[in-house]
Amino acid sequence: MKIIRQFAEDKLVIATHNKGKLREIKALFDRFDFAVISAGSLGLAEPEETEISFRGNALLKARAAASAATMPALADDSGLVVTALDGAPGIYSARWAGPDGDFDTAMQRVRDELTKTNLSDVSAHFICALALVWPNGDEICVEGRVDGQIIWPPRGAFGFGYDAIFQPDGHSQSFGEMDPATKHAMSHRADAFAQLIARVFAPQHAS
Ligand code: IMP
Repeated sequence: MKIIRQFAEDKLVIATHNKGKLREIKALFDRFDFAVISAGSLGLAEPEETEISFRGNALLKARAAASAATMPALADDSGLVVTALDGAPGIYSARWAGPDGDFDTAMQRVRDELTKTNLSDVSAHFICALALVWPNGDEICVEGRVDGQIIWPPRGAFGFGYDAIFQPDGHSQSFGEMDPATKHAMSHRADAFAQLIARVFAPQHAS
């Protein structure tokens, strides 16, 4: 990892082809005065996630976009880590849902595998790694986390992915039952963004 520097450019590429993530990230940077550009609008290819950690995959995606666009690029990688399943689904969280993004099946698999462990430990956490890479190779990566437990049956229709089976510690609602603003105030993604903004995005950028 190279030096940490302040973000002083007027453009930032968001290295995601996921429309939901792009919308969420654009909203988080709304108060800053640089332009946010999607990798899709630049026609950048999406690299295969070949690393074995959230940080590794976030860096891989940001490095590829920064070098192809010759602009600073931001990428994230996130997932659900279940303690009793040795960290699964982890970096494979999206892949457990298959090519059609079937999270009912993915959540059922989490439940089935936990049942095999006699449900003695249902603790879990979400992780979000965020990587910012400049075309000259400077880079920073932060990791946000939220702790909780796996509940069954799934509850709530808000959110996406594994939200309906994740209940954050200290709360009686699952992420799927919380209104989105409540979830976004405490999520792993909010934690990672707060760290990144504090370290790299200087107040002079805020309008
Ligand atoms: P990525 O696009 O490789 O980062 O995949 C992240 C996957 O992790 C998503 O498809 C979801 O399955 C899961 N995930 C990440 N963050 C959340 C969340 O906030 N709620 C529910 N599922 C999440």
